[in-house]
Amino acid sequence: MNRFRLLIPDRLFDEMIAHAHREYPLECCGLLAGLREDGLVTARYPLVNIRASETEFLSDPQSMFAAMRQMRADDTMILAVYHSHPSSEPIPSRKDCEQRYADDVACVIVGMKEVITTRVWWLSEANYQEAEWQILNVKRGE
Ligand SMILES: [Zn+2]
Repeated sequence: MNRFRLLIPDRLFDEMIAHAHREYPLECCGLLAGLREDGLVTARYPLVNIRASETEFLSDPQSMFAAMRQMRADDTMILAVYHSHPSSEPIPSRKDCEQRYADDVACVIVGMKEVITTRVWWLSEANYQEAEWQILNVKRGE
């Protein structure tokens, strides 16, 4: 399986956290796209959680389709699917594993219980494993 180290530029990371806050107390969901060879995220696509739930998410097919079309145009791929856990630790749930996007797409979870804690995982049918990842400092003069 083709695993990579996920590199998230700080601006995109901040946008993802802001998205989680905006949807709170509901779960947010979205995609991080980029180049698989270097694991570098180049774009973030917020998706609509059609479950509008505090404990689960289901991506709206239309927002997913629009994101995929843009990725094709940009020649990028899905590197990670992110979602938030508004009231629990950023540990994958059984449902997160069962409904994972793919084994070689990372799962980013923003835990919001007490403090904001982000963790990244590789998911399989019934298991998960912590992934290597890093926030890249690229912001300048802001
Ligand atoms: Zn979850």
